[in-house]
Amino acid sequence: MLRIGHGYDLHRLEPLAPDGAGRPFVLGGVSIAHDRGPVGHSDGDALLHAITDAILGALGEPDIGQLFPDNDPQWKGADSAVFLNEATRRMRARGFELVNLDATIICERPKIGPAKAGMRAHLARLLGCTETLVNLKGKTHEKVDAVGEGRAIEVHVVALLSSGTSANGR
Ligand code: MG
Repeated sequence: MLRIGHGYDLHRLEPLAPDGAGRPFVLGGVSIAHDRGPVGHSDGDALLHAITDAILGALGEPDIGQLFPDNDPQWKGADSAVFLNEATRRMRARGFELVNLDATIICERPKIGPAKAGMRAHLARLLGCTETLVNLKGKTHEKVDAVGEGRAIEVHVVALLSSGTSANGR
């Protein structure tokens, strides 16, 4: 059986503390040097959040905000890998494997291209699959609106899951 899920996330980007509320910029579990960072209850990793929600969505499970409320002190500053690990645990518990996922990362700065290979390798490790199942695309927002002005980062993800055992790429 195949199931598809969509995940979306946006985080405001602010100057790093103490000038603003931005946390160090981390995306897909990879730190990227930037003078701004995401504002969030956890580490603010929009890519991990969107992948988590895509997998949970495909399974028809509660979403990331329901499982890990942003007013729960337990998740303050949390490594978002914890959220993705729970989503993949639920995926395997339900007998599903990832067929592939495709992510679109939209931000004006920093440039995503140079970090893509590292993010892809890290995501494959977290998901327990080969890198070929994880695709990342970086785009700008053409300088318009908050994303284009560098004040936010936005991520869209679609993930396809299969309950077969031969579609996990391992
Ligand atoms: Mg988020």
